[in-house]
Order: sequence, then C-alpha cells, then structure tokens
Amino acid sequence: MALFDRKNLLPVMTVGAQVLKQQAQPILQVNDDIRAFAKDMIHAMREYDGIGLAAPQAGRSLRLVVLEVPGSDEEELSPGEAAMLPQMPMVLVNPRIIGRSDSVCERDEGCLSVPGIYAPVVRSERVVLQSELLDGSVIEYECGGLLGRCIQHELDHLDGFLFTDRLAPEEYRFIERQLESLERAGKKTNYIRRRK
Ligand code: ZN
Repeated sequence: MALFDRKNLLPVMTVGAQVLKQQAQPILQVNDDIRAFAKDMIHAMREYDGIGLAAPQAGRSLRLVVLEVPGSDEEELSPGEAAMLPQMPMVLVNPRIIGRSDSVCERDEGCLSVPGIYAPVVRSERVVLQSELLDGSVIEYECGGLLGRCIQHELDHLDGFLFTDRLAPEEYRFIERQLESLERAGKKTNYIRRRK
C-alpha cells in the first residue's frame, strides 16, 4: 500500500487568485509541515511540467520555492548553475536576490499560473541569490542563464508579481485579451487550475 496518496495533487492557482497578488510570509521554522509541503510542491511542479513553483501558486502565502531547472550545455556556466543544477530538484526557503547585473536579457516566459500564455520578459542577466535550504544551511550564488531567469520569475511570485506584470506595454497588448479571458474563466473554478 502506498504511504502517500499522490493522486491528491496540490492545487495550482491561476491568474486572478488573491494569493498570487500578496506579499508572502517568511518561514520562521522549517518543520514537518513545511517539509511535506515542499515535497508536494515538487510533485505538482513535475505533474504540470514546470521548472519552478512558488508556494503562493500552490495556494499558500509562504516564501518557499521549488526548482527543477534542466542541465545546461553552455560551456560557461555561472557559479550558481555549476553548483545548483546538479542538485535539482532544490527547495529554497526565504530566498532573496541580493545583487543584480547591470546587463539585461530578453526571453520568452510562461507560468503554470498563466496557462497557455507566453511572452518575452526583460530581466537581469545575472542575479546573486541568497537562500536558506531545508536543512538550515544558507547558500549564496551568482546565477545566470535559465536558472537566473527562473529565480527572478519565482521570487517575483513571493512579492505578488506575475511575469505578465513585467511585460513592455507593446508586448502586454498582445496577450491582454487572453489574460482577461483566463481571469474570467478562473472565477468559475475559484482560480484553481483544472487538470488536463
Ligand atoms: Zn510563475
């Protein structure tokens, strides 16, 4: 008999949900509840084919993020990619960005909370991430590439921002209608994403 009933997937909240607009609360103590929730978040991220998931997306306003960024075949990895990619999936507790490069880059993003919409977002090329881990240790790395982007996207969720809030006005115009119809559809499901 299975110890855990994994058929009960965590809900994934969609655009319009109040929890996605809030400043999430710091985690004061990593206890069994947090460890179990992080595990369930990893499961949900995988079920929905995501590379990152923030706790508010799973309905809880906590500063907790899970990442499963795929390995990179770039020759020059940032220190964060070199250290973190082999450790995926990773759980970040109270993560913070404590530095940013002046240079920026643009890349298409999507989000499990904004299904079906993709648009180019300009973000810092590199960020310095500082975070606690579940075991209480603290990491600090300069992160670039897809990892650096994913960190910026996921940490935005902890401050109530979606990638669609970061679009240039001319890009926003392209997705505005689609976003509005997603929000309207969300009202009927209490902003809980339906499974495919
Ligand atoms: Zn997202």
